[in-house]
Amino acid sequence: MPEKAVVIALGGNAILQHREAGTAEEQLANLRRASRRIAEIARDGYAVAVTHGNGPQVGDILLRNEIAKDVLPPMPLDVCGAESQGMIGYLLQQALGEALIETGLDMPVATVLTRTLVDGGDPAFENPEKPIGPTCTAMQARGIEREKGWRMAQVPGQGCRRVVPSPRPLALVEGEAIARLFAAGVVVIAAGGGGVPVVRESGGALCGVEAVVDKDYTAALLARLIGAGDLLLLTDVERVALNYGRPDQQEIREMTVAEARRHLAAGQFPAGSMGPKVEAAVGFLEAGGERATIASLDSAAGALAGRAGTRIRL
Ligand code: ADP
Ligand code: MG
Repeated sequence: MPEKAVVIALGGNAILQHREAGTAEEQLANLRRASRRIAEIARDGYAVAVTHGNGPQVGDILLRNEIAKDVLPPMPLDVCGAESQGMIGYLLQQALGEALIETGLDMPVATVLTRTLVDGGDPAFENPEKPIGPTCTAMQARGIEREKGWRMAQVPGQGCRRVVPSPRPLALVEGEAIARLFAAGVVVIAAGGGGVPVVRESGGALCGVEAVVDKDYTAALLARLIGAGDLLLLTDVERVALNYGRPDQQEIREMTVAEARRHLAAGQFPAGSMGPKVEAAVGFLEAGGERATIASLDSAAGALAGRAGTRIRL
């Protein structure tokens, strides 16, 4: 195994950009671009494992279920999450396989459909706040709550949407399989969309739950699992910023874990977007990781070399 190992987490925009319709061709084209960046990193001598978001894809799957519900039974959220891992995993295998060959690298690529163990007692289950699926009116939302028992909430600027809990991941059920594949030189794609959340029932069986895990946290778990020194979180901004979106916005090139914690506590990094990335980076470093970097997809290789993005260190 190469000495250098990295877990690369692809944000949702790396796969499906805003305002795109979501065709397979668009997603494949975006994944080809992402795959060229990943192949550059492999060429630089890194052993690579990849994880990715699935928000837009699961949204489409849920909408498809909704539209077809009078003809075919809708699938629960855990099954939809698994479906999205298969779909994105397949497209990524196609795109990454090609990109590696073009780069002159002969490496096997495989997706591991991953379940993520969460704690049924996680406080997130008391407070579902992650919006998923299609939007509707407030009146429709009340009907859905009565009919399905889902929790619906008003999402600013969007309308009403279903909200589900977003518990913290404890472990990857397929962790052993992923670690062995990675150690054998396979470019592993795992824990897509944060993995399918499962809880352990009192009898010991695992049961899928209606929740979503943030992929940034599972990316950190995955990196610890395979012993990667680097965690690279790729998104659609060049750097993490202070006072983001304001006239006095200030990009951060490097911050320590202590500084990151202070900025988190001061509310600089919102819960639904930059917060989980910075928290995942902090958790990874405190658990023994060497470097965590948050950067844009296009500057991935430079960011890993310390020339772009935001580097977080102990
Ligand atoms: P991903 O799909 O990559 O996880 P997210 O939307 O969850 O993407 O998070 C990235 C987004 O975080 C950026 O597009 C940006 O709008 C937002 N963001 C919020 N706060 C900050 C900040 N302090 N610095 C940089 N980006 C921020
Ligand atoms: Mg995100």
